[in-house]
Amino acid sequence: MEQFRQKAAELKALVGSGGKKIVVLSHTNPDGDAIGSSLTWGHVLQGAGNDVTCILPNRYPAFLNWMEGIDRFVIAKENLDVAQKAIEQAEIVFCLDLNTIERLDETLCAAIEANTTAKRILIDHHLNPPTYYDLMFSYPEDCSTSFVVYRLVCEIFGVEVLDKSDAENLYTGIMTDTGNLSFSSLTPELFRAIAGLLERGLEIQKVNVAVYNAFTADRVRLLGYTLNKKMTLIENNTVSYIALSERELRRFNFQLGDSEGFVNYPLTITGVKMSAIFIETRKFIRVSLRSRGDEVDVNVFARKYFNGGGHKNAAGGRSYVSLAETVDHFIRSASEFLNHC
Ligand code: 5GP
Ligand code: MN
Repeated sequence: MEQFRQKAAELKALVGSGGKKIVVLSHTNPDGDAIGSSLTWGHVLQGAGNDVTCILPNRYPAFLNWMEGIDRFVIAKENLDVAQKAIEQAEIVFCLDLNTIERLDETLCAAIEANTTAKRILIDHHLNPPTYYDLMFSYPEDCSTSFVVYRLVCEIFGVEVLDKSDAENLYTGIMTDTGNLSFSSLTPELFRAIAGLLERGLEIQKVNVAVYNAFTADRVRLLGYTLNKKMTLIENNTVSYIALSERELRRFNFQLGDSEGFVNYPLTITGVKMSAIFIETRKFIRVSLRSRGDEVDVNVFARKYFNGGGHKNAAGGRSYVSLAETVDHFIRSASEFLNHC
């Protein structure tokens, strides 16, 4: 705690009196936490008199369109010049919800590396962050980056700088990263933070409806198809996997973010301890892994077999072989991991 205070004081000296050119960056395929934490952190820094540009490598899913300020993100894939220029001129680059810079695309990585004078600061809750940051707020025991941002805002600026939209945006990150307050890391401090957000105007029901009841018919049909036709149980019904090809996704008019949360459903089956989903894209297969409890650490699994990472119960990676080969590799890896590790 003392260390947090000390580092927060250091950060306050940097950004507290304004006048800095700042970039706030988050990861590819941004989720509720990446967006909620970046929006609020960017808004608070701007409010303190800094010149802030929030950048995402690619577009956010449409079901998050309602989030206040989301249209001000510079999407690097669509507006690379603006993103590159902001990074080039930045005095401080914040990386949020982003343990490795590799989770940005190569052009953005190069832009960050080319700016050798900017301070690089990490605000994150992933395990095993690299150490190339000048200042690190890395708290793997925290449920979400949004919660880390809440703690930093309270420490540096005071909770009263958060407005209703900030409170909604942070709660979106907390809610989506904890499976609507049902996973681990649910501490008394987190619920005190939520109480703090409620006092700033948060309406939990509004955020719930906006995030969870805002799907297209195609998405709901894709979910039905996925669970009915594509879910496969192996390892004595303790492991589930789902593989969706580009062709299948096209059939359901797939939009970015549509498969978000699918990987959690198999874990509702008694006895299932690990769930995987493989989503085929043009360039690679996106791998998402989930587990329940302490028995299976999918962060270790993702690192060992899929060149990825994440947390104990939620991790991911990429595969550059075909969908069928990825599934074969998964079946072999799951067997080795569960039976021999
Ligand atoms: P999701 O399955 O929701 O995409 O990701 C779950 C968790 O795994 C997130 O915390 C995310 O940061 C992490 N993760 C997903 N993909 C990758 C990856 O390619 N590399 C690393 N290091 N972590 C990932
Ligand atoms: Mn997160």
